[in-house]
Amino acid sequence: MFKTRICGFLVCMAVLFSSLFSCQNASDSKTNSPSHQKTYYSFFDTESRIYSYGNDTKAEFEANASGIEALLTEYHRLMDIYFSYAGVNNLKTVNENAGVEPVKVDKKLVDFLKYCKEVYSITNGATNIAMGSVLSLWHECREEAKSSPESARIPDADELAEATKHTDINDLIIDEEACTVYIADPKMSLDVGAVGKGYATERAAQMLIEKGVSSYVLNIGGNIRMIGDNGGEPWTVGITNPDKTADSFAKTVYVKNTSLVTSGNYERFYTVGTESYHHIIDPKTNMPSVYFASVSVFTEDSGLADALSTALFCMSESDGRSLIDTIDGVDVIWITQSGTVTMTDGIAVKD
Ligand code: AMP
Ligand code: MG
Repeated sequence: MFKTRICGFLVCMAVLFSSLFSCQNASDSKTNSPSHQKTYYSFFDTESRIYSYGNDTKAEFEANASGIEALLTEYHRLMDIYFSYAGVNNLKTVNENAGVEPVKVDKKLVDFLKYCKEVYSITNGATNIAMGSVLSLWHECREEAKSSPESARIPDADELAEATKHTDINDLIIDEEACTVYIADPKMSLDVGAVGKGYATERAAQMLIEKGVSSYVLNIGGNIRMIGDNGGEPWTVGITNPDKTADSFAKTVYVKNTSLVTSGNYERFYTVGTESYHHIIDPKTNMPSVYFASVSVFTEDSGLADALSTALFCMSESDGRSLIDTIDGVDVIWITQSGTVTMTDGIAVKD
């Protein structure tokens, strides 16, 4: 991490309200604004923005942006568990064929699912894409609560216990040579919400890096990927305060050439009476994780940052520290429900 007084812009980390702001600090000696930018609403049901801070021409930026658009559209379709697309075998197809037969899929999906298995092992099962049966029970209750808040409920304990029996990642059978995916347990299903956006963001970043760009920012629904730096200086990034009534960021930090992904209890939740239930489910309890209000992960690979943010949200800080000690180049900011902020040593905080 890098520390300087020069401010580029602020990145608001709330997934629902993610946006980039020009630095407001009039005393800053230098403020670089993006040379080009574009906003999309078509990927992963969220807002995405592409920014160039380099010296590429408008035509070069447009070419880069349309390359990213095509790539993210493809990943969006492949990872979708709710909708089908003509001529595409996606995760919905794979889920529908659980216990039936292997599904021939695009190599991109095979590579992604292999990565998800790796993620399971790196996180000791805390981020498990095979938890679809459990996650769908929570999803159902959240959706019901939207239309009838007065009858909001949490999933039935017996149903949850039964669903848990169908979350074994080893039942996800990938045949790389045949390019097929098969779920051996008919009651198991995949939900890649914890990893998909970050993984796709990293693929888009790698596409740009191969083209030789030096200064780009991708904000794909709050998954922030910074390529290079801002004219030789770091960017200034604001971490959303989980207490939404506060009007300042919980922390503002300096970053370059890294990703920043936050998992938070304020992103998607519903209430039953006075209790609030968010969308990140602890596999140890099958209930919304209770350790933190948010966990922000900084590491170069956006897929890893996404996978780790969910995993670290589902374990104590000391277990989280032991986990990231085994991985190079990861920094973390933990914020508890009561607002206590702790972080790893590599983070450069703005005073
Ligand atoms: P994130 O915001 O990256 O933490 O991802 C949250 C999303 O991942 C949820 O909306 C679920 O779709 C899914 N999810 C929740 N808990 C888990 C978990 N423990 N392992 C894998 N996926 C999860
Ligand atoms: Mg995640």
